[in-house]
Amino acid sequence: MRLGAQVRAGPDLLEAIATAEAIGAAAVQVFLQSSRAWKLPAHRPEALAAYREAAARRPGGLPTFCHAPYLINLASPDPELCARSRASLAANLVEAAAIGAAGLVVHPGSHLGTGFEARLGQVAGALVEAVETTGGGCPILLENTAGAGGTIGRSLDELARIIEAADGHPDLGICLDTQHLWAAGIPFGTVEEADALVHQLDQTVGLDRLGCLHVNDSAVGFGAGRDRHANLGEGDIGLERLGSLLGHPALDGLAAVLEVPGAGHGPRAQDLATLDQVHRAGVDRWSGLAWRAAVAEAEGGGRTGARRER
Ligand SMILES: [Zn+2]
Repeated sequence: MRLGAQVRAGPDLLEAIATAEAIGAAAVQVFLQSSRAWKLPAHRPEALAAYREAAARRPGGLPTFCHAPYLINLASPDPELCARSRASLAANLVEAAAIGAAGLVVHPGSHLGTGFEARLGQVAGALVEAVETTGGGCPILLENTAGAGGTIGRSLDELARIIEAADGHPDLGICLDTQHLWAAGIPFGTVEEADALVHQLDQTVGLDRLGCLHVNDSAVGFGAGRDRHANLGEGDIGLERLGSLLGHPALDGLAAVLEVPGAGHGPRAQDLATLDQVHRAGVDRWSGLAWRAAVAEAEGGGRTGARRER
């Protein structure tokens, strides 16, 4: 697992690489523009190429995810807002592809009371338009939401329906945020629950479309329906539950990105150290289970105690 963090890109993007080195992040996520503005990103092509090269030069590379602005609402019933959203998505996708990003994370938006079914085709159409008109080169990762108001993407089923409505375009994937799962009332805190979630993911969206994880603790309770991140171990989820999910063998190759407040300026070295501890403890828990299952199999002819094969 590549343990990473949301970092500031700075004016020429290279600040992201310096920060990654300073805090010990093996993957990063950046905004290519102000997260709450319509003004389109406008980096010089040389700056984008310089970032791509600098990231690739790092030992082991530096998987980079971009986050699209929060204002984007592909499901808006207002045609003007929808057009702005599509333009913003396309412009961010072009730059994300130019820096060699591993994915552009976007919140699918809110139907604002008009209903999921009524907006499904519109959202899928906007996503296909973005990848087709920009020539692709970087997957769009739809992030699950905390379930507030009319937000779209609060369940794996909704995310799967969007991708299905886009004819399963190969450039579409998802990003799972632990705080949003928790707030949306989706459990993952025991190995059984984590395994059920991974199984459900495989049955709906497909495991191969999971592009990255956002690892955050939650400042609100299970099922509270609000998007409020907390530092790991300082929220309602807690380290033990996060470990159950992070240690799942099926998630091993992914990037896990912190979007926590730190001391107010984003993830710090100590937050990455905590993430590393949580991940290691989770992996140990899962490998302990595999070991016990193997022993039970050897002793009992493979019937008792063997966990489900994946
Ligand atoms: Zn997130």
